[in-house]
Amino acid sequence: MEVVKITPRGYCYGVVDAMTMAKRVAKDPNVPRPIFVLGQIVHNRHAVEDLESLGIRTLDGGRRVELLEQVPDGATVIFTAHGVSPEVKARARERGLNAFDATCPDVTKTHTLIQEKVDQGYSIIYIGTKGHPEPEGAMGEAPAGRVALVTTIDDVAALPFGSDTPLAVVTQTTLSQWDTADVIRAVQTRYPEAEVHNEICLATQLRQEAAVQTAQDVDMVVVVGDRRSNNSNRLVEVVEKVAGKPAVRVEQVEDLEPDWFRDVDKVAVTAGSSTPSQVTRAVIHWLEALKA
Ligand code: SF4
Repeated sequence: MEVVKITPRGYCYGVVDAMTMAKRVAKDPNVPRPIFVLGQIVHNRHAVEDLESLGIRTLDGGRRVELLEQVPDGATVIFTAHGVSPEVKARARERGLNAFDATCPDVTKTHTLIQEKVDQGYSIIYIGTKGHPEPEGAMGEAPAGRVALVTTIDDVAALPFGSDTPLAVVTQTTLSQWDTADVIRAVQTRYPEAEVHNEICLATQLRQEAAVQTAQDVDMVVVVGDRRSNNSNRLVEVVEKVAGKPAVRVEQVEDLEPDWFRDVDKVAVTAGSSTPSQVTRAVIHWLEALKA
């Protein structure tokens, strides 16, 4: 069996910067302890464990604004690459917490865009994943009643805005560009005047395009990524839906089953932008050993 390594794959610049900032904070003796991350630094268990080994605790399982209340007075808090709402930043300031912001510059760009559009009188249709921290942070830039989340085409019919409302459509950074195009078309059918801003980041686009292109020439694609990683799940989706090839997502080498590859001559491997490279390397080595 031939193993093709898709590039680019794995950590993007936003994730590299967030991990670097968190490790620098952990090593700085002048930073007040304890140190917390508000949510998973990136959606990957291995990356979270890496920070735990440096003494950084991850608060998870709720909205950022609620998790913040678990940070004790005088402690340090790190905001993740997904970004946080102005409400979270204001509350951290009000409580006198030592805050470090690892928000990816591409997410900050979306926040700024939403602020500008709101100031210009627009209401916001945000295309994103329900329950994901990035929409929570970005949508927090708009006042309640002037922003709505759309995940699927079916959500478009339920939008509360009238036909004369000035509307700006903004997307989450880690969506599938093909799915998003369908949802944008549905929004434009209902609101032909809506102004569209596709905010899918370059790192996500390049990983998806490389996966779709390589998938044409192989029998199957293995995506290495956490179950909560939006961009890893989207990689599986684009391989299946756009390239029409089978894809499996595994979190680590232990998840692989030899049976999956019984009739496979050529397999390609990619990884979500939150997957550490050593986890992907272990998967590649396992597959290479299987061909022997
Ligand atoms: S996936 Fe894109 S937006 Fe998210 S951290 Fe990476 S570069 Fe930034």
